[in-house]
Amino acid sequence: STPIKPMVAGNWKMNGLKAGQAELHKMLAGISDDLADCVDVMICPPATLIASFSEKVTGNVMAIGAQDCHAAASGAHTGDLSAGMIADAGAKAVIVGHSERRTDHGETDADVNAKAQAAWSAGLVAIICVGETEAERKAGEAVAVVERQLAGSVPDGATAQNTVIAYEPVWAIGTGLTPTAGDVAEMHEAMRVDLAKRLGAEGSAMRLLYGGSVKPGNAAELMAVDNVDGALVGGGSLKADDFLGILAAYQ
Ligand code: PEP
Repeated sequence: STPIKPMVAGNWKMNGLKAGQAELHKMLAGISDDLADCVDVMICPPATLIASFSEKVTGNVMAIGAQDCHAAASGAHTGDLSAGMIADAGAKAVIVGHSERRTDHGETDADVNAKAQAAWSAGLVAIICVGETEAERKAGEAVAVVERQLAGSVPDGATAQNTVIAYEPVWAIGTGLTPTAGDVAEMHEAMRVDLAKRLGAEGSAMRLLYGGSVKPGNAAELMAVDNVDGALVGGGSLKADDFLGILAAYQ
């Protein structure tokens, strides 16, 4: 089968003012054409910065993404942003179902599924996040939980082009803790089998990112795990030096 081109996406969460452009410029300056040939790089800043960041990225070095979208195309939803608005601002992708959205805003698998379809309708790639809590892992339910989330959150019609999956164990996000390489391998294998069974060749070619406390020091080890096709990075994507250190693992 064709090797899958990895993706590394940075999720800035609710961090970043206009001054954050300095960090973006440092990142852009540090990504060579050779590196861009090896890995698709994305930064997902807060929505306030999508338009200005999108104007700064040229060529294939980096794409800009969003962190969430509403499931509806327009209407009476004060404070929300549609996928079309995000695309109009220059984003190429949108994260949906991040565990912080599932927790802070009570988003269900059905909500995430609807948001992913809205993303596609606007021509955006949906980066769909799944992951178990610490209690679920301790109870031995991690794989079952993630398989249930995939079944509910990934719409029919998902392809390797329009969808990226991010496995992010909730207990590993922002904690400095990571699963063992063996645990990551087990989960990514289970996700691959699941998606291939349901989506055929598209599921076999779909990018499966790992997320949760990825740093320059562990990026290479995590990337080397079978069926890990890149990373979704939170804290490690805020500073250019850290982010470039992570990207170095992909060259
Ligand atoms: C995330 O929230 O997507 C994430 C992976 O965060 P961190 O890298 O900070 O753990």
